[in-house]
Amino acid sequence: GQRVVLITGCSSGIGLAIAVMLARDKMKRYYVIGTMRDLKRKDKLVEAAGDAYGKTLSLLTLDVCSDESVKQCVDSVKDRHIDILINNAGVGLVGPVEGLSMDDMMKVFQTNFFGAVRMIKEVMPDMKRRRSGHIIVISSAMGLQGVVFNDVYAASKFAIEGFCESLAIQLLKFNVTMSMIEPGPVHTEFEMKMFADVSKKEYVGTDPETLHHFRTCYLPSAANIFQGLGQTPEDIAKCTKKVIESPQPPFRNLTNPLYTPIVALKYADETGSLSVHTFYYMLYNLGGVMHVSLSILKCLSCGCLRRRAISPT
Ligand code: NAD
Repeated sequence: GQRVVLITGCSSGIGLAIAVMLARDKMKRYYVIGTMRDLKRKDKLVEAAGDAYGKTLSLLTLDVCSDESVKQCVDSVKDRHIDILINNAGVGLVGPVEGLSMDDMMKVFQTNFFGAVRMIKEVMPDMKRRRSGHIIVISSAMGLQGVVFNDVYAASKFAIEGFCESLAIQLLKFNVTMSMIEPGPVHTEFEMKMFADVSKKEYVGTDPETLHHFRTCYLPSAANIFQGLGQTPEDIAKCTKKVIESPQPPFRNLTNPLYTPIVALKYADETGSLSVHTFYYMLYNLGGVMHVSLSILKCLSCGCLRRRAISPT
């Protein structure tokens, strides 16, 4: 029969693309429950799903930050039966730590970490009882490697990586699979929201030197990285579908082969110095000449540091 897939954060971006791709599966193997905080924002998803809407795609309200909303949503699924849970809802945050409020930082953890934990806590016990299920988390390459001025966002993704890596061990006993999807940059509202937020914020309390590094070194190279390496939400949806359909889904799944050497640096030097110094060199010593660092990445990716990445094609 059809496998029931519940996805969080489907009003835009990667969540929307995954919902559409699975609901439009030619063999109709999935029944997709696309969820979002506010169903007033359903139009984009409904339009992209076309005639799948009402057949292999239905919608429910869900806010991953609310116990009540999560319970109500899962209770309204037939027999609470969810075969595949895709934790996608997430928010970004960039900027110098001194200039960010504790509230903003906690919001990131409330969504990216506790939001996924809340969902897993609600759905996993049924999966364990049934001895089947697949839990997927849209993490980030920044869940494996810290990136300058993304301190809190990276920390929230590291947190969910650690949580899931620990759970994955126990879940093996129950035939429940856990998979992390780790995209690099992806062109979605996430990117727009980030750059819009940056132009609004003043980062009060940050010294001018740090602000200069943030605005004139980091931001232009971040924009270049999005432009040069950005994948589409459909690329990430394809990778996710591949992981779901794999007979033995890997735990970690980088979606962008250019990021595999970055992660490999960590394993190549367990002291962490190689990673920290490489990123330092990329940010400060190359004066924004991003294509130089891109070619370093490309060069590394053809050598012994190469690791496997799941490719969207
Ligand atoms: P997006 O902003 O288009 O999508 C995020 C979705 O999550 C939005 O629809 C938003 O409304 C929803 N959301 C936020 N808070 C929520 C809550 N409390 N309850 C329910 N839904 C909520 O951005 P995206 O790029 O599609 O992001 C999806 C996931 O991919 C996120 O977890 C993000 O961290 C991750 N990611 C994005 C990128 C990127 O560059 N865009 C890279 C790596 C990982």
